[in-house]
Amino acid sequence: MECTSTRGAGPVPLTRALAEGLAPDGGLYIFPLDARPTVTLGTTLAETATTLLAPLFRGELLDAQALCQSAFTFDAPLLPIDEDSFLIELFHGPTAAFKDFGARFLAEALSRLALPPTTILVATSGDTGAAVAAAFHRRSGFRVVILYPDGRVSARQAHQLGAFGDNVRTYKVSGSFDDCQRMVKEAFADKALVAKHGLSSANSISLGRLLPQMAYYAHSALLMQQRGHAPVDVIVPTGNLGNALACLMAKRLGLPIGHVFLATNANRVLLEFFETGRSTARASVPTLANAMDVGVPSNLERLTSWWPDLEKLRADVSADWVDDETIRRTIGTVWRATRTAICPHTACGVAVRDRLRAKGHRAPLLIAATAHPAKFETIVEPIIGEPVELPEALAALLKKPAIAKPLEPTVGALTAALG
Ligand SMILES: *Cc1c(COP(=O)(O)O)cnc(C)c1O
Repeated sequence: MECTSTRGAGPVPLTRALAEGLAPDGGLYIFPLDARPTVTLGTTLAETATTLLAPLFRGELLDAQALCQSAFTFDAPLLPIDEDSFLIELFHGPTAAFKDFGARFLAEALSRLALPPTTILVATSGDTGAAVAAAFHRRSGFRVVILYPDGRVSARQAHQLGAFGDNVRTYKVSGSFDDCQRMVKEAFADKALVAKHGLSSANSISLGRLLPQMAYYAHSALLMQQRGHAPVDVIVPTGNLGNALACLMAKRLGLPIGHVFLATNANRVLLEFFETGRSTARASVPTLANAMDVGVPSNLERLTSWWPDLEKLRADVSADWVDDETIRRTIGTVWRATRTAICPHTACGVAVRDRLRAKGHRAPLLIAATAHPAKFETIVEPIIGEPVELPEALAALLKKPAIAKPLEPTVGALTAALG
């Protein structure tokens, strides 16, 4: 499949777009989103993913089936929280957040490409870094360098980020997630630095993460279709638009997905965009849903390339935002009603569902549950009044010692750290 940059470069084969991450002109790789009616529901997520992705990988060096079987070793089950609302549990991977799907697929893809020694440089608002580190941990030919904003991630997230060791190095940056992202962007703009370290990105700008994320929306929507609910509306908690874009891509590829509702936190840049068609870069504000504390959503450029017409975009997607007080209240109401603990990001999605229901929306809804609540126990446990059980993989990581070195928020400091 041929991919082009949002800024015009290309076309290049999909495999090359996966290996490069960012296009050489600084744009993001996109591809034609034509409906493909061939996607069928498999008995496992890996099977559905294969029918979805195989046509995109036809004629490429990589085999979609092999990638899907290696990457999708855990499922994304649907959990009802009332008669008509279902959480898509995306947190059954090694680091307990949805980013495991994309990171593992990307790591499999890059490993099979026999690249020269590569440094995966990743800015994280909390969960990406751990997912990428887990996916590349001890893979020969790869080194992972993680930047996270010091003090802006949960204690468990921070521990997890520093707990890998071996080929993974972790830095706590004295700045925000946007600072971390800017440092990474500036490093990638330095051609000599990129060549010296074989720098590669694993952020949500990489198609290698977006493509596999479509799979769980495809699988859940097809399951709902089988139950007689098609197309199904979906709510996606989002900040950087990575997960949400994957849902929209799946819709455009012909999956039975209806309207997509974006649930953001107090970082309201996407709302501004949907109202005016423009967005102003702004500093991110810290919220309880910290993995969505994004002032400049990097995938917006892809969204506007794929949906150049704002009216058409609005027909498919809308955005709403949720404040911290509502996040807290929603965690509490869901717990009391169902004994299900949800993370603060998922709570944004459920709060949007509550508003939709209040406005008369009656059709079934899928809500992406983006992380396990145990990653945010300091927020969740005081609200529900009891401990959240730790998933096994997370418990194992938290038992290991964690190391993160401090780093100034400048590309100079990063260059020195890369060695
Ligand atoms: C990364 C993340 C998000 C936001 O994902 P986007 O790619 O910005 O849409 C939401 N929730 C959790 C738990 C995350 O880790």
